[in-house]
Amino acid sequence: MVLASPALTGCHASAPYEESRLLMDTVVRIEAYGPRAREAVEAAFAEFTRLDQLWNPYDEESELARINRAAGRGPVAASPDTLRVLETSLEVAARTGGAFDPTIGPLVRLWGFGEQAAPQPPAPAAIARERALVDYRLVRLDAGSGTVELPRAGMALDLGAIAKGYAVDRARAIMQQYGVSRALITAGGCVYGLGDAPGNRPWRVAVQHPRDSRAILGVIPVRDLAVDTSGDYQRFFEADGTRYHHVIDPRTGYPARACQSATVLHPSAQWADALATACMVLGPERALALVETVPGAALLLVDERGQLHRTPDLPWEEASHGR
Ligand code: ADP
Ligand code: MG
Repeated sequence: MVLASPALTGCHASAPYEESRLLMDTVVRIEAYGPRAREAVEAAFAEFTRLDQLWNPYDEESELARINRAAGRGPVAASPDTLRVLETSLEVAARTGGAFDPTIGPLVRLWGFGEQAAPQPPAPAAIARERALVDYRLVRLDAGSGTVELPRAGMALDLGAIAKGYAVDRARAIMQQYGVSRALITAGGCVYGLGDAPGNRPWRVAVQHPRDSRAILGVIPVRDLAVDTSGDYQRFFEADGTRYHHVIDPRTGYPARACQSATVLHPSAQWADALATACMVLGPERALALVETVPGAALLLVDERGQLHRTPDLPWEEASHGR
């Protein structure tokens, strides 16, 4: 669905081409500059659409659904994009000690965010049962034969915490193929600033206040960099005074508790995306320690009390009313 009609403001080489569509369960917006901007944006949306179809866990026909149905029944063929995104996923999972885990599928399904009218947390016994099926170390990925195997029946992949980042990386590569040297690509909480913004200044990415949707915490200037924010305020329900949100701690089977939001900067959008989710799970101390070991990464984190934490090299302009 086209949300905003394309704004083609003339044929001058520096005029922007901008378009937004609903994809991957969020709003994807691309603003690009240059003579071939329109072609580039259309090609990037085609790629987003293709990846969305490939990895939509709710579409029985998607490749991800097919792989999940084969759990416990041996290796199945996977497309090159799926093999690549899984390779990165398993790498991030290993680096984060499983805080990010692409086999989180059974728990995501059990919690069912957004599906129930009056959501309640699942029964503890059900959480324990599904949690036992979550373990990235069991995934058998064979790039040589192009197959993936989920060895236990009931295991399920969920790429919700990395798919948008992967797609943004693909969109960025497509921009460059079309000679677009300036673009802003936004997919929900994942943003990539390619080159400079108009006026030869960095792109400016605002970070939302996790408890006040009309306020921002500050601004991150970016150039050739991805910024991804994961938070407890987009998809959640409240029951008996507790907020249950969609980032799950694979160890407990319950939504992560230690953070309100985590924003990660990284040259690769898929790494930024997956790391931001992991940081939500890890909490401030372990998240800061982790991000400092990842070359090119920086972190801004809001802990459960609303306190800000950041790595020393984070480019950051704090809003005057920011907390
Ligand atoms: P958003 O989708 O808002 O950008 P995230 O990138 O943090 O937020 O992704 C959250 C989604 O990732 C969840 O909806 C679920 O599909 C999946 N997920 C939840 N917890 C984890 C986890 N610990 N590791 C990997 N994926 C997760
Ligand atoms: Mg993420």
